Amino acid sequence: MIMAPLPVLTYPDPRLSRKSSPVEAFNEALRAFVVELDETRRAAPGCVAIAAPQVGHFERIAIVDVSGRKRVASHGRLVLINPEITAWEGFAVGREGCLSVPDYTGNVIRAERIRLQARDERGEVLDLELEGFEARAVQHEIDHLDGLLFLDRLVSRRNDLFRRKVYTQKQ
Ligand SMILES: [Zn+2]
Repeated sequence: MIMAPLPVLTYPDPRLSRKSSPVEAFNEALRAFVVELDETRRAAPGCVAIAAPQVGHFERIAIVDVSGRKRVASHGRLVLINPEITAWEGFAVGREGCLSVPDYTGNVIRAERIRLQARDERGEVLDLELEGFEARAVQHEIDHLDGLLFLDRLVSRRNDLFRRKVYTQKQ
């Protein structure tokens, strides 16, 4: 069955500032939503991650998959339910984009390595150590669950915010 992608909320929609609630039931409805959320992520070219509140669903659910990026450590596709970061190490600045902020990218400081605990959509416990771009993507998605965008993390909008290039079609 092919499903249409869900509509994505974009900045400055105030719902993006809402904090999401923990998932309590690991049931078929959750798994069906995860399929739709992943469909929505995959419909956006180059999109490595998505969080439920970006489609107006305010539960602590995110999907991260950086396996398509070259030279990046990856655990494959991670479905993260009620994710918690339990340890942080190091700091790095990196460029981030977001489906909900389509016209800009920004430089954001994140921990370089994290320890992550979560459950998957079947309720199985995940306990992972992540680094680099994958760790960054998870931190970005957990921010969405707390009602934060990368825009809220910029040290300076003047220096750290970049308008995306507009690609015009060749005649
Ligand atoms: Zn985002």
